[in-house]
Amino acid sequence: MVKVRILPEDRVFVLTGAGISAESGLPTFRAEDGLWAGHRVEDVCTPEAWERNPWLVWEFYSMRRAAAQRAEPNAAHAALGEMEARLGERFFLCTQNVDDLHERAGSERLLHMHGELAKSRCELECGRAPVEDGAIYGSLDEVGRCPCGGRLRPHIVFFGETPLGMERIQKELARATLMLVVGTSGSVYPAADFVYWAGRSGARTVYVGPERPRNAAAFTQVVEGKAGEVLPHLFEYV
Ligand code: NAD
Repeated sequence: MVKVRILPEDRVFVLTGAGISAESGLPTFRAEDGLWAGHRVEDVCTPEAWERNPWLVWEFYSMRRAAAQRAEPNAAHAALGEMEARLGERFFLCTQNVDDLHERAGSERLLHMHGELAKSRCELECGRAPVEDGAIYGSLDEVGRCPCGGRLRPHIVFFGETPLGMERIQKELARATLMLVVGTSGSVYPAADFVYWAGRSGARTVYVGPERPRNAAAFTQVVEGKAGEVLPHLFEYV
C-alpha cells in the first residue's frame, strides 16, 4: 500500500460516511441488507414523512439509536482520533454519520453535517438549541415537547433539508492541503462535491473504502480496502 505522507505544514480535512461505521456493525444505507430493506427512505427521512407520520420517523430513529448505543468504535475511528491528537488544530473532521463513534474514539474537532442521533430538537424553528436525548421511544406519547409547544424531532438533517455547518466546512476545505475521504459512496450531495472544492484549492485527495465511489475520478489516490484495516497503517507522519 502506498503510504500517505503527512507533512508538518499539512492541514488535513477528513470526510467520513456510513462505511467507516460498517465494521462496528452499523449498516450503510446502500448495503443490500442495509437500513432501507424494510423502510423506504422517502417514508422515514423527509420533512413530509415527519408531517405525515411522526411516530414512524421516531420508531425508525429509536431503532437506530439502540443500534448505535450497542456499537463500539473500530480501528478506523481510533486512527482518526490518533491523527487529531498528533495534528491538533491542523485537523478537521466532517462526518455524514449521525452516530457518536468518532467522539467515543477521541475526536473533538468534528462536525456532524447530517445531525446527531443522540440529540433532539424542536420541530418548529423556535431557535432553541438541540438537547441531549438518547431515549428509545415506545410510543409517540412518550416524546417530549419544547417549551414553545412544538414536538421534539430527531436532530437529523432529513433528505431535502440543508446540511449543518456549511460555512465552517467551506472555510476548512479552502485551507486544507490534504483531504481524506472514508467510506462514502459519493452519491449524497453536497458532501459528494467536497472533493472537487478541495481539489480546486490544490489539496491532495485520498479515498479509502472497499469499492470505488461514484466520484472516484476526482481523487488523487484511491485506496481500496476496509477502513478498519487500511487506516491504522496508511499514514506516514514526516
Ligand atoms: P452510503 O451507504 O451511500 O455508502 C457507504 C459506503 O461505504 C459505500 O461506498 C461502501 O463501499 C463503503 N463501505 C462499506 N464498508 C466499508 C468499510 N468497511 N470501510 C470503508 N468503507 C466501507 O453512505 P454515505 O455515502 O455515508 O451516504 C448516505 C447517508 O448515510 C449519509 O447522509 C449518512 O448520514 C447516512 N448514514 C449514516 C450512518 C451512521 O451514522 N453510522 C449509517 C447509515 C447511513
